Amino acid sequence: MSVRPTSLETLAVAAGRPPRTPGGPLNTPITLATALVPGGDSEYARHGNPGWEAFEEAVGALEGGHAVSFGSGMAATVSVLELLPVGAKVVAADGSYYGTTVELDRRARRGLLELELVDVTDTEAVIAASADAAMVWLESPTNPELDVADIRAISAAVTAFGTAVVVDNTLATPLRQRPLDLGADFVVHSASKLLAGHSDVLMGVVVTHDERAARALRTRRTSLGSVPGSLESYLALRGLRTLHVRLDRAEQNATEIAARLLDRTDVAGVRYPGFGTMIAFEVIAGSEAAQQATESSEVVVHATSLGGVETSWERRRRHPGEPENVPEALVRLSVGIENVEDVWDDIARCLDAVVGGATPAGGARREPQRTSGWV
Ligand SMILES: *Cc1c(COP(=O)(O)O)cnc(C)c1O
Repeated sequence: MSVRPTSLETLAVAAGRPPRTPGGPLNTPITLATALVPGGDSEYARHGNPGWEAFEEAVGALEGGHAVSFGSGMAATVSVLELLPVGAKVVAADGSYYGTTVELDRRARRGLLELELVDVTDTEAVIAASADAAMVWLESPTNPELDVADIRAISAAVTAFGTAVVVDNTLATPLRQRPLDLGADFVVHSASKLLAGHSDVLMGVVVTHDERAARALRTRRTSLGSVPGSLESYLALRGLRTLHVRLDRAEQNATEIAARLLDRTDVAGVRYPGFGTMIAFEVIAGSEAAQQATESSEVVVHATSLGGVETSWERRRRHPGEPENVPEALVRLSVGIENVEDVWDDIARCLDAVVGGATPAGGARREPQRTSGWV
């Protein structure tokens, strides 16, 4: 394209397309071949695929850096941790996605890194802990408690220590938060969530300004074989084309639903960061009521994962691996793009059926969290 679009909405639609050649396709086709004709950039599927490259070009344009895609968000996460020298100190959000926490713990137990967990909303504590750290791993908002970190303030302070800042931007997406612009060194995504957006693709991506780090990530990806498939890359890029439209609609729905949840007397601790598609709340009647309510929905899907076009919810602690700091009766709600009244009627019906008449525990209700730190 001769004129570079500057708005993220246009980039979501336009970036990562093949050169315009007469009779050629507008989308990068799916390439199902392990062996390629010699003489090009890659001869074997583990080294490269036109589908990943198209996806990487689009995500790189949206986040403002070099993107390297992986077979899952966890493969992307582990690959960034693999850049660290053995024994390096990592400061991480105590409420990170549980797969990330499990991996950090495992590495700490094996002596691969030294781990200090912090509350990401406590900017001063994060900065103090990072003074002798090689990396600070932020997730913002966190999954599932939706804590928001002040990425700009933390990045500005820890750069002086030489600490690399990583932000898991899965819940915010580059349309609501661009961590590299805020001073971070790496952005990590589970593309399985909002970027792909249809609950049918497992993929991850890392974005960085640092070309050497991007090369190192690609080399490790080739060695480990943590590559995405060509079909997945195609579907993820197709999903990305509508990210802005899906996000605007789901966020509008989420804002409305968060406000209505706040008006109910049978739920407490409603958390909504003020942007994005995720809400968390606690059912005052307890974990069994929360479990029953989430299992009885019809419009809302009872399922894990998040960021799809469909609204879904679950009681997080039904997963035995979920950390104990997550309340037993916490419901994580991923809001989709359906008609908001249909979604709300379903939520209200399910809550009415199990908790009708419950009164709030003293002081348990609070305003949804709104923290600075996003753009
Ligand atoms: C789902 C998720 C991951 C892991 O991604 P996968 O694609 O499932 O491997 C990492 N971080 C966050 C915040 C997530 O929600």
